[in-house]
Amino acid sequence: MLDPVGSAVPVNILNLPGLDVVDFRETDTEYHVRATPKAISRLCPSCGPASRVVVHQQKTLFVRDLPSHGRAVAIHLDVPRLKCHDCVRTFTAVVPEVDADRQMTERLVKWIGRQSLEYPFTEIAKQVGIDEKTVRAIFGEYVAELEKQYQRDTPVILGLDEIYLSRPRGVITNIGDRCLVDMLENRYKKTIVEFLKSLPNPERIQAASTDMYRPYREAIQEVLPHVVHVVDKYHIIRMGNEALEAVRRRMKDTISGKLNLALKRERKLLTMRQHELSDEQWLAVSGWLNNFPQLKVAYELKERYFRIWDCESPDEAAAEYLRWQEAIPPELAKPFRAITTAWRTWRKQILAYFEHPITNAFTESFNAKIRKAYQEGNGYSFEVLRAKVLFTDVMQRKARRVEQVKVKRRPRFDELEGARMYFNLGRMTPEEPQYDVRNVVKEVTLGTDLSTLLAEIDHWPTRC
Ligand SMILES: [Zn+2]
Repeated sequence: MLDPVGSAVPVNILNLPGLDVVDFRETDTEYHVRATPKAISRLCPSCGPASRVVVHQQKTLFVRDLPSHGRAVAIHLDVPRLKCHDCVRTFTAVVPEVDADRQMTERLVKWIGRQSLEYPFTEIAKQVGIDEKTVRAIFGEYVAELEKQYQRDTPVILGLDEIYLSRPRGVITNIGDRCLVDMLENRYKKTIVEFLKSLPNPERIQAASTDMYRPYREAIQEVLPHVVHVVDKYHIIRMGNEALEAVRRRMKDTISGKLNLALKRERKLLTMRQHELSDEQWLAVSGWLNNFPQLKVAYELKERYFRIWDCESPDEAAAEYLRWQEAIPPELAKPFRAITTAWRTWRKQILAYFEHPITNAFTESFNAKIRKAYQEGNGYSFEVLRAKVLFTDVMQRKARRVEQVKVKRRPRFDELEGARMYFNLGRMTPEEPQYDVRNVVKEVTLGTDLSTLLAEIDHWPTRC
């Protein structure tokens, strides 16, 4: 193909089949391409196919396209303004591959959508030569589209937890498959209920592990009453250490500042399990305990509290807890009250663990990394983080599942003959269609694979 202005114009500079390139200029940062459409639509938007349309005048649209060789690309696109004889309206001709409202090629809009999950909006905006607001708007539309297509498999064991990113957000996991299923914008009961209701085949869910957050309990009771609700072990266990810490902190009123500081430095040792301490560490700890009887009682209560989770049945654990509770001396009731309250309120869900030992602990490392990604640089917004985490293809964990489906049996020829005879005998209702049950292998998306995600996050660019 020869172009009108001669050899200086690389014919395939745009590689857009619908446009003819007629001129080309470059600056240090941009390519400017003058082009005309090969074809336009002459339909009047109001009158449709029957309209009689004439060219009214020419107009040059300024259209952005994919950046090329590190430079922004601008197309100066000459398109006719058309006039409809019937309704006397004038309008700009529609050019295939061009999003006239956005003043961009359609492929650029798609590209920005994909890039917006990978790179900071400001960087994309700079590369393309548009403003950040436009990138943000395209991101929003792109994510809404992905959201529509995103269908995750309903977990058998559901995890509900919290992550704090400017405010508490819900983290939904598939515990059995170690996947992240969703991140909820907030933890209002309404949001949780809506999410649970959106899961297809809720009867698949057998158990749920959550932290001790009342709206989780209420939402589960409301939407998934059949599910075994288990309090995540680590949330209830770590309260033993929090109580011990409370006892240590209140000692500062009775001991010297110097001692208090020394004790504070060794608080990590106090919260470690006794059997994990080296001889040297135990020597340090026992020194403190021998000098401060109340700290010693609190320490022993902490150790004994942890041992409840060595029990093998809910009954055994319940009995062990009662004995433990009775051992709390009145002067330590206050620092240990959070535990006794939690056990009173969540007893059933705490004890359920001893029959269904499920825990959401594997999300801790995810939470830590996401928090870091959120805080670093200018931070990703929650919406961007969520979209990156949920919709990045390589991180999706797929599984094949065999499902039984009913298939209408196609009648064989002799059966057809039989049916016709049957019909001719005066029975107006033909026989009920026959069904076969067939196994169909379906590919399902379980969610975001956490180990892949953890490896990916380290390569995410920071927005600085
Ligand atoms: Zn018209």
